[in-house]
Formats: sequence, C-alpha cells, structure tokens
Amino acid sequence: MRLVLFGPPGAGKGTQSLLLKQRFGLDVISTGNLIRAAIREGSPLGKKVEAHVNAGGLVPDDLVRDLANESMAQHKFDRFILDGYPRTTRQAVWLMEFLDAYKSPLEAVISLKVSDDVIVDRLSNRRINKVTGESYHLTYHPPPPDVDPKLIIQRKDDAPESVLARLETYRRETHPAEMFFRQAGLLVGINGEGGVDDIFERVLGSVERFSELQVA
Ligand code: AMP
Repeated sequence: MRLVLFGPPGAGKGTQSLLLKQRFGLDVISTGNLIRAAIREGSPLGKKVEAHVNAGGLVPDDLVRDLANESMAQHKFDRFILDGYPRTTRQAVWLMEFLDAYKSPLEAVISLKVSDDVIVDRLSNRRINKVTGESYHLTYHPPPPDVDPKLIIQRKDDAPESVLARLETYRRETHPAEMFFRQAGLLVGINGEGGVDDIFERVLGSVERFSELQVA
C-alpha cells in the first residue's frame, strides 16, 4: 500500500498517518520529521534548510526528493504513507515517475480539507514531544502529566508569523499539486474537521475503496 496524506499545515496529516500506521502496520515517511532531524543534528543538509523552514517556506525540491526517495527505497517501495511529501507539482510528478519506475505505483492521495480558522487554532495550540515527535493540542489533547514538561515544545514554525507564511506557501505552491493528482485519478477529498476518531473513520472509508487492506 502506497498512500499520500495531503493537505495544508495543521490538516492532521501526521495524526492520521500514525493512526493508519497503528491499524495496518504501514510506515510513515514524514519529510518534515526527516528535515527537523537533520536540523537538530546540525548536518550539512540541516544547515542548508533551517532558514527556509523557520520562515515558513519550502525546502528546495531536489533536496526533499532525495530524502523521500531514499526513505521509500529503504521501505522497498511499499507499505508506506507519505506525510508532507509531495508539496509542489514538480515533487508530485517526480514521485509518480519514481514509483512507476519501481513498478510500485501510488495508490491514493487522501486530501484533508480544513478551514483556515481551524488550521490557525490547531497550529497555535500544537505542542510536540521533542524526542518522540508526538503531537498534542493544548485543549483537546494535552500532553499527559507523566511526560517531562521539558520535552514538550512548540515548533519554531508554529509561531504566528510562520503559520501565516506557511498557509500562503501552501496556497501558492502546494495546492496546485492537488489538481495534478485529481487528473491522475488518485485524489480522495476528506473533511478534515471534527474529532480525530471521526476523521479517521472517513480516512478508513476512503482507503477501503482503494486498497486490498482489510478494514475491520
Ligand atoms: P511539516 O512537518 O510537514 O509541517 O514540515 C515542516 C517544514 O519542513 C515545512 O514547512 C517545509 O519548510 C519543510 N518541508 C517538509 N516537507 C517538505 C516538502 N515536501 N517540500 C519542501 N519543504 C518541505
């Protein structure tokens, strides 16, 4: 099974990917997590991309493509969910060509639809565990009391000025890729608002249509 979770920042791609992982044992390839790890380690790639990420912009296409392709190869081109890749039409074209070349075509692109108000609320209240990457919402899903509060941080790019820049980047660079996937017959639009479990039910309904996975 080869899926993309698509949508603006704060659409719930990470949360829904983890639920799919738990349910089906698929692996999540999150280019955002790979990039943040590179920045944390201070690797040459991390140094190159840090300013783009903190300003709410995109990392250059070819750098992200290499990260994503390497990770898909490690997974033998199957049983993964891409979270946050592709984010431009160019990346989308590359992704389809890459997987086709390995005879493992992409099966579905699940696009989570969320209004701007909900995105701003989710991102400004988002906190993450800097070790596990687990994501929380201060009101709806607060960090559990047994987790060391020092591990719970706000992502730099969740600061208000970055959030607005990221939404703008999404509209300009990422949203057009949706049209490409629609034309390829892969796009499934899902209402991404409401409770996590309700959204997951909708995701499962769409996955069922596209895949051999047994939805219990
Ligand atoms: P995310 O965790 O998916 O919100 O990604 C965090 C940041 O990493 C984004 O705002 C971008 O700066 C960068 N990034 C992640 N994935 C991509 C991608 N596919 N293309 C370009 N930049 C990316």
